[in-house]
Amino acid sequence: MIYTAFLIKYAEIGIKGKNRYLFEDALVRQIKYALKKCEGAFMVHKAEGRIYVDVISGYDYDETVAALKTVFGISGICPVVYAEDRGFEQLTKDVFKYLDDVYPDKKKTFKVAARRSRKNYPMDSMTINRELGEVILDAYPEMRVDVHNPDILLNVEVREKIYLYSEIIPGPGGMPVGTNGKAMLLLSGGIDSPVAGYMIAKRGVKIDAVYFHAPPYTSERAKQKVVDLAKLVSRYAGPVYLHVVNFTDIQLYIYEKCPHEELTIIMRRYMMRIAERIAKETECLGLVTGESIGQVASQTMHSLAVTNEVCTLPVYRPLIGFDKQEIVELSEKINTYETSILPYEDCCTIFVAKHPVTKPNLKVICRHEENLAEKIEELVQTAMETKELMIVQE
Ligand code: ATP
Ligand code: MG
Repeated sequence: MIYTAFLIKYAEIGIKGKNRYLFEDALVRQIKYALKKCEGAFMVHKAEGRIYVDVISGYDYDETVAALKTVFGISGICPVVYAEDRGFEQLTKDVFKYLDDVYPDKKKTFKVAARRSRKNYPMDSMTINRELGEVILDAYPEMRVDVHNPDILLNVEVREKIYLYSEIIPGPGGMPVGTNGKAMLLLSGGIDSPVAGYMIAKRGVKIDAVYFHAPPYTSERAKQKVVDLAKLVSRYAGPVYLHVVNFTDIQLYIYEKCPHEELTIIMRRYMMRIAERIAKETECLGLVTGESIGQVASQTMHSLAVTNEVCTLPVYRPLIGFDKQEIVELSEKINTYETSILPYEDCCTIFVAKHPVTKPNLKVICRHEENLAEKIEELVQTAMETKELMIVQE
């Protein structure tokens, strides 16, 4: 590929006033993280209110663009060619080479958009526009000027170097991870929670995760699947601190002491309680789940209210209004779907009742939870003490 750099466009973060540099620094950091996995060497730098990725040595264009597309905060990726600053004649040669490389088919309309931020350059932008436009028309008779809606908007930016670019590849949008605190994601092996993690990370939130494992009812493969999902989410969210909690004894105890149709809801309340304890210990500002209203019995409005009641931290449910099909489409887009549908058992489904309550009554649930009074605090304490921490990244 002919490109020597990428100009990174960012939308929302450009408007953050005095905090702007914090957002830019976070974006630079996340870009570096994403490019670490790519072939080649790069230099990521800020210059004149912009972020550039300079290519230092051999790189794979598709791989690099794919990596940049995982960086939240990027609204557009412009592949750039640096033209030589050796007079107008050299500039036209560089422009012709650019057009030949990028647009082999010349049946196109174009417009030159010059910007001169280095004022000692001998031509002003109007002159560059006019004169470059003329030489392009002379060199390529098939090309036409269209100042309103050109096929090719050729940007010529005269800065400390001269930049040529015309393509904008859409980025993922959002805000750079690390600019908006941290949250604890309840990550199961299903389709929904990885997507929920992606959505919250997209708003600049760093993600820690907790998985409730119930061996031997859930296998090592089920756990590995969650690790794999965390790894896929980490492509976007950065390294994920994954807490694996052994939930078996708590689950068995609830099974023994509580009505079976209330098992799921009581279990979910204990998951939330434990997740909140870990969240508070790790300075997370909220919990995140993959719940969506009405998807299953434990996600009716009544059930969600009863589950939520045990939490004091805010619980973020980014998929709350999504249909399953919409969630599936998102999971395909972020590449978690194939892993999510692997058929390993889930700790919720093993103990699930034939007819779980869909309209749990908080008072009744609390009364039945009293059956657990003797041992539950000790079991929760043990679960906290024996949890395993894994740092997951691609
Ligand atoms: P998912 O597809 O995310 O597993 P689901 O449709 O299977 O969701 P539930 O099993 O009711 O729904 O779980 C609702 C939410 O609770 C999940 O999205 C996830 O955030 C959390 N959750 C469920 N099981 C676990 C688990 N074993 N470990 C951690 N979190 C869990
Ligand atoms: Mg599930």
